[in-house]
Parts: sequence; C-alpha cells; structure tokens
Amino acid sequence: MHKITLEAEIDSQRLPCANKVGTGISCGIDSFHALALHADIKMNRHRITHLLFNNTGSHGEGAAAEKLYNERRNRIESFCTQNGFNLIELNLNIKSTFKQNHLLSHTYTSMFSVFCLQKLFSIYYYASGHTINDFTIKDTDIIDPANYDFFLLQSFSTENLKLYSEGACLTRLEKTKEVAKYKPSYNFLNVCVRTSENCGKCEKCRRTLLALDAIGGLDYYSSVFDIDYYKNNKIEYLIFLEA
Ligand SMILES: [Zn+2]
Repeated sequence: MHKITLEAEIDSQRLPCANKVGTGISCGIDSFHALALHADIKMNRHRITHLLFNNTGSHGEGAAAEKLYNERRNRIESFCTQNGFNLIELNLNIKSTFKQNHLLSHTYTSMFSVFCLQKLFSIYYYASGHTINDFTIKDTDIIDPANYDFFLLQSFSTENLKLYSEGACLTRLEKTKEVAKYKPSYNFLNVCVRTSENCGKCEKCRRTLLALDAIGGLDYYSSVFDIDYYKNNKIEYLIFLEA
C-alpha cells in the first residue's frame, strides 16, 4: 500500500446521468424486499429500473463457483425477462486480483461497480443484511460492513449518486412478510447457500421455510421449495429453530 497523489485540473461540473434507479438482484429475501417496496413506487424518481448482478465474490472461487454463478445468472435473467427489468451483469476480477474476505468487504467492492455506472444511476438501493439495531463502527476490519453500511453509504453518496441502505429498519421476518406480498417472487425466491436450487436443508433455507410458515406464505413458494417435505418433517425444522 502507498499514498496516492493525483495531479490534474479541477473540474466541478456534474457528470451527465440518465437518472436511472438500481439495486442488486440475487432473488433472495433482501433483494426481493428492495423490489417489493420500490419496483412500483409512485415517485418516478425512486422507481427501480435496472437490476445489477454483480459478481464480487459471493459465489466463492474456482470451477464450482463459476458453475453456481452461471446457474444463478440464468434464474436472474428469466426473472428480469418475465418482469420487465433491465439486467446489468458485472463479472469482476476483483475477487481474484485482490484476495480479501468477501464477507468483510462486500459493501466496498459492490459500490465500486455502482460507481462505474454513475452515468446511469442517480439512485441505488443496497439491500442490507443487518438491521440498524446491529449498527456499530467498532472493529470494522473484522465485522461484516452490513453492520455499518447505513453510515458507509451516506458517506459514499455524492451530488450525482444517492446510495441507500435498503431495509435496515426491518428484521428478516418483517422483510419476508413484504416479499410474500410481491407475486413476482413466487417462482424465483432463492436463498440457498449450498446449491443453485433451494436445498431446503441449509440454514438459510430452513430459516426461510420457517418464516414463510409463520406468516402463512408457505404455499406461494411451492415451485421453489419442497413444501410437502417441509410439512411432513416439520419437527426436524422446529428442532433446528430450538437449537
Ligand atoms: Zn439451502
């Protein structure tokens, strides 16, 4: 690492911007919550127009990661085609060039992509994985930046581009309630951390099935989860909840 010096003429003119509105898309609860609230919002200036599939390292590394990335991309392409969203795919080499823990750096690397597109976006929603109740700026080199991206995204915003931490005031259960009202999510919800289809067994799949059950939304998602298995083995899921 070294100190960077820039020598250039100062230009304070605004960049030209198409004033579009973006958010990331993974088809998980957080990204669908951003869509549930902002895809049809009455204020035109805030209505989401573009979805960003941004590969900064969340799929892992190596051949298995590449396969997972392609499978997830195919689902996202179908979602965008069926629901009229513009899809932007960014497959960055930042994950192989700069070896760093994705969980500890995702807000920074994701915003790198968004700033590459600042002639397109005037607003970008970054779905937060933590609630504002978890907010802290202590030990920022060892904690998930989602703990403080409410602050970070305010700091990164410019006169051209406003970045919002989306959904930070809600718990995952409260977000799931909103997502269950968003019909385009029914055939596409995908939360699995193991495979491209929902396995129904990993922690995220189990948590989501239990949440959907709690809010009476289980049957909406019969095309993306094995709901019969869940219903026939509910005790297994309740034991997981207790643990
Ligand atoms: Zn799973």
